Amino acid sequence: METIGTIVHFLEAWAPPSLQESYDNSRLLVGNKNQEVQKVLVTLDVTEALVEEAVERDCQLIIAHHPLIFGSLKSLTGKNLVERSIIKAIQNNIAIYAIHTNLDNIQTGVNGKIAQKLGIANPKILAPKKGQLSKLVVFVPHNHASVLSDALFSAGAGKVGEYDECSFALKGTGSFRGSENSNPTVGVQGERHHEPETRLEFLVENYALPKVLEAMVEAHPYEEVAYDVYALQNTHQNIGAGMVGLLPEPMYAMDFLKQVKNTFGGTVRYTALVKDQVQKIAWCGGSGSFLLSKAIGSGADVFLTSDFKYHQFFEADNQLIIADIGHYENEQFTKELLAEKLRQKFSTFAVLLTEYNTNPINYL
Ligand SMILES: [Zn+2]
Repeated sequence: METIGTIVHFLEAWAPPSLQESYDNSRLLVGNKNQEVQKVLVTLDVTEALVEEAVERDCQLIIAHHPLIFGSLKSLTGKNLVERSIIKAIQNNIAIYAIHTNLDNIQTGVNGKIAQKLGIANPKILAPKKGQLSKLVVFVPHNHASVLSDALFSAGAGKVGEYDECSFALKGTGSFRGSENSNPTVGVQGERHHEPETRLEFLVENYALPKVLEAMVEAHPYEEVAYDVYALQNTHQNIGAGMVGLLPEPMYAMDFLKQVKNTFGGTVRYTALVKDQVQKIAWCGGSGSFLLSKAIGSGADVFLTSDFKYHQFFEADNQLIIADIGHYENEQFTKELLAEKLRQKFSTFAVLLTEYNTNPINYL
């Protein structure tokens, strides 16, 4: 058994909630963190039937991709599907957790799973996000620089793409004068002191910043740590929407679309096959039409996503092939992804995939 809190903590270290979009509501939506869990049910969507399944299969926690609750609830009377699902969950002591756009925006999330299904290795984020990175500069006596670096690296500072433990060091001289209430590690109260110090610089992901600053204060020898945090304009190459990558070999466009239909099921709505052969593929799990210009800009031959409206299909404009494969279809393997992630880490509870198809859309 494991508590809900432990499971949520693990998932959020992987897909930090701060990476979710502003309209989103990824979090523990229903339930108590201290409750113990023997069985988890993984799904894309929560419906009444899904909660019923959790009851029947004796699950204490539902982990869903799409949040059941988006807006605020002013009453809980069972007047719609959302409220009835919540009431049923509470009555049966079942918790509901949602992991949505934070899972869309990480390299190993929804889109990374689609890459596996498409057979595409080493995909890149299609629209890397800004506002995710800070530069931490800290001043430390030379002989403490290495201990401090170790502490900051292990708290998550200094990651750049496929590299970690990245930093820059510059030697100089710091000065300070402690007040009568100070307790200086070097020098004496009331006198200006010059200390040979190293200026250390690290790139830090904003979501890791609180932990890194805590580790810095802990490992630094000074009573008052001199440090600066700068907000950066750089994009984060591993965080953002959509992905793009190369098929191992070029394929005839129609062969590729047929292969996609075989893998994802449903139906494929596509624009003119303006490329005879395709190899560079862009994709986005869920509703990705907002990324069309990024997909065109990336030089992709095909943009694979869902929820295109009629007029938006014209915007392919002979530059690439839009393939709208359905929202449920393109995100269905997210269930598998979540189950794999949990099973790799925990053997203390069972992870079940829903047997219920929550897709609200049928095809004739
Ligand atoms: Zn979705």
